Amino acid sequence: MNRPRPHTTISPTRPEHKLKNATSAPLITGQINPDLAAYLKKNLRSSNENENITTNEPVEPSASTDAEDNILVTIRVRPESVKEKELTGRRGPLVRIVDRNVITFDPSDYETPNERRALGVRRGKDLKFAFDRIFDETCTQMEVYQNTSKKLLDGVLDGYNATVFAYGATGAGKTYTMMGADSSGPGLLPLTVIDLFNKINENNNKQYKVIVSFLEVYNETIRDLLVDPPLDLNAEDAVLADKKNKRNRDKEQSLEIREDKLKGVIVSGLSSHVCNNADEVLALIKRGSSHRTQYGTAANSESSRSHAVFQIMVEQCERTANVMMDVKMGKLSLIDLAGSERASVTMNRGARLVEGANINKSLLALANCINALGKNKGKGYVPYRNSKLTRLLKDSLGGNCRTVMIANISPNSLCYEDSYNTLKYANRAKDIKTTIKKNV
Ligand code: ADP
Ligand code: MG
Repeated sequence: MNRPRPHTTISPTRPEHKLKNATSAPLITGQINPDLAAYLKKNLRSSNENENITTNEPVEPSASTDAEDNILVTIRVRPESVKEKELTGRRGPLVRIVDRNVITFDPSDYETPNERRALGVRRGKDLKFAFDRIFDETCTQMEVYQNTSKKLLDGVLDGYNATVFAYGATGAGKTYTMMGADSSGPGLLPLTVIDLFNKINENNNKQYKVIVSFLEVYNETIRDLLVDPPLDLNAEDAVLADKKNKRNRDKEQSLEIREDKLKGVIVSGLSSHVCNNADEVLALIKRGSSHRTQYGTAANSESSRSHAVFQIMVEQCERTANVMMDVKMGKLSLIDLAGSERASVTMNRGARLVEGANINKSLLALANCINALGKNKGKGYVPYRNSKLTRLLKDSLGGNCRTVMIANISPNSLCYEDSYNTLKYANRAKDIKTTIKKNV
C-alpha cells in the first residue's frame, strides 16, 4: 500500500470565545443546535485557516518535522470543586502551573511546617514535571481540542492510526474532556467528529467513507455500546433486568478480538456504522454514551472500571480520471479510560506492575505497553496481549501511530495520591519517542 508520510498542521491559536446561546442546549443531539453549529463552524474553520485570532501566548512551534514525536503527553488540571474548596480551600491548589509546559506538584510552601506536622505525612515534594502541554482550569474545550486530537486528523485522513486517551482518577475530568458538559460545550469526541467532516467536505478530490464503532471494556469483557438492549422494558422491569445484568456481568460473553492482515485489529461481531455526516456520528455517540451511563448509574464503581472506546475508521479512495486509485484506511480511537485510582497501589511499587484481582488489568497492561514502547524505542517486545484494551490498540499505539494522552488531575490536596500517580504515569509515557518512518 502506498502511504505517504503524514503531516500535521498546528494552528497556534487561543480561542477566547465563550460558547454563547448554546450552553443550555443539549450537548449531543441528532441535529446539532444551530447556535452550536455556527460557533463550531467559525472556530474550527478559523483555526484551520489561521484567521485573525489574537493570542497573548507565545506561538507554538510547528510539529511538521521528520523526527516529530509520535506521542503528545498533556495534563489537564480541572478547577477545584465547591466541595473540595469547602474542605481545603484555605490552602489553595496543590499544583502550580509554571508555564504551559511545566507544572509543580506539592510546592514546598504549600503547607506551613506546623500544618505538615499535624497532617503527619511527609510532603513538600516540590516536584517539577515537564509535559508537551499543560491545560489549566481556564482552558476551553476548544483550546484542548486544538492542541490535542485536532493534530491527529490530517494523519488519519492520510491512512494512519491514532489514539487519544483521557487518563486519570475518577472525578478528575476524563468524561468532561472527552464528551463535554452542558455548561461548557462539547468535548473532544464531538469536536473531532465535526472537524473531521469539515475537512472531508473541503476535500473534493477525494472520496471518504466514515465508519464508526463504540465499545466498552469492562472486567476484560468487550461490549458493543451501539447495540440497543433487546427488550423495550418498562421502568420496573428495567430495574430487575439491571440487577440480573450485574449478577451475570462476569459470565457475560465478551466480543472477541482478532487480527486481519489488511484491516488490522478487528472485534468480531462489533457493529460498525457507516455515517454520511457529523450529525449521524453525534447521534451514535449519544446512543452509546447512554448505554454506558445506565451501567454507570447502577454502580458507580463499575463505570470507573470501564474503558469507553470510540473508533472512527476513515477510508479514502482517490479517483483519477474516473479510475478508483489507492485505498487508505486510517483509524482514530478516542478513549475515556477507567479510573486510574485502582492502579495506583501497584504503580507505587515501581516499574514492574503486578495485576491484582481488584485492579484494572487493562490499565496496568497499558502502562506496561507504554513503558515497553518507551524503553525499546518501539523496536522490542511490547506486551499488547496482556489485556483486552492493549490488544485492541495493537495497531493504534506505538510504531507509526500517533498518540495523545490527556492526563486529568484535580488541583486539590484531597486528591494528593491520585494526582501524584497520574503525573508519574504521564511522565513515563513521554518516553515513547520513535521517529515516524516513511511508509512507501
Ligand atoms: P471522570 O470522568 O474523570 O470521573 P468527570 O469528567 O465526570 O470525571 O468530572 C468530574 C466533575 O468535575 C464533573 O462534575 C465535571 O463537570 C467537573 N469537571 C471536570 N473537568 C472540568 C473542567 N475542566 N472544568 C470544569 N469542570 C470540570
Ligand atoms: Mg467519567
